[in-house]
Amino acid sequence: MISTSERSARLDQAQAVVASQELVAMLITPGSSLSYLVGYNAVALERLTCLIVPGDDVSPTLVVPTLERPAALASGVADLGISIIDWQETDNPYELIAKLLPSDGAIAVDDHMWAEQVLRLRDAMPGLEQVLAGGIVNELRVRKSTAELDALRQAGAAIDRVHAQMGQWLRVGRTEREVARDIGDAILSQGHERVDFVIVASGPNGASPHHEVSDRVIEVGDVIVVDIGGTTPEGYCSDSTRVYAMGNVDPAFARDYGTLMQAQEAAFVSATVGVSAESVDQAARDVLTSAGLGEFFIHRTGHGIGMSTHEDPYIVSGNQTRLQPGMAFSIEPGFYVAGKWGARLEDIVVMTPTGCERVNNQPRDLVIL
Ligand code: ZN
Ligand code: ZN
Repeated sequence: MISTSERSARLDQAQAVVASQELVAMLITPGSSLSYLVGYNAVALERLTCLIVPGDDVSPTLVVPTLERPAALASGVADLGISIIDWQETDNPYELIAKLLPSDGAIAVDDHMWAEQVLRLRDAMPGLEQVLAGGIVNELRVRKSTAELDALRQAGAAIDRVHAQMGQWLRVGRTEREVARDIGDAILSQGHERVDFVIVASGPNGASPHHEVSDRVIEVGDVIVVDIGGTTPEGYCSDSTRVYAMGNVDPAFARDYGTLMQAQEAAFVSATVGVSAESVDQAARDVLTSAGLGEFFIHRTGHGIGMSTHEDPYIVSGNQTRLQPGMAFSIEPGFYVAGKWGARLEDIVVMTPTGCERVNNQPRDLVIL
């Protein structure tokens, strides 16, 4: 569990950065950054909920619709010293925020704030330049605490338990959709609060990396990419991919899958403290390229993960960010051959002072069912 003192420290750090950048305030709307900073899992609605983290010594304020006030209080935000200001149905929350802030300078707005809200804030505060808050919050989120890494380990173990049961559901004659429904139930029963995605990509559907599900019936000889993830009650995400085969596998596929395992291992071994994110991508890509599969590896090697499934650091060419203890990301090389098949092998790893540790530990071989 993330303690109140840890959350309070996050908020203090964020406020210090807002001050150091001489911003009037940072405005955060419902989403993973709000959850991260104050532990309030508010749903994004047309009625504005907005955390104001000021650039001076004043405590943060949470502006909420009156009907959301009980939910905000129940989340424990008051324990962090945040004052709550609620607005009635006929009030204008944008004007309300404008009255709380100086009329000139710059404000940082949540990267995922709805455009409608961004523009209405601009109308209410024409003297304030708007910049993105992502740089401030992401810088904190990318360096995870011991408690956060533990939360990711638990999420990893939870999704591993789902993969371990795949043979119960993945059967010839069933549709991808039927299988996905069972997987979704298991994601919930194995320690997640929410199902974030279920990809069951059988046969040629495997060639589309983000294929979700269809009514295609699973056949003998199919190769099936199963990529699944959810969010735990603590708010941390899981994400893991394994490849299953229904009976005999085409020898060409089996050979290429072996190369994929080597590519994933090469990336894992290369991920040490101090190396660049892009070098981990390169390590996986080199193995696939030298086996003639480079052109079929059509995405980056990985993405950071935490309270969002996709966040910094991205494991991609051009990202020179140095890997540091506390970072968590996926290593998920793949190959996708249109009209034939696809494969992806994905583990989440966390960086500790002693190196890189996988939080997903299900066998990585092709699973023959
Ligand atoms: Zn995935
Ligand atoms: Zn992923």
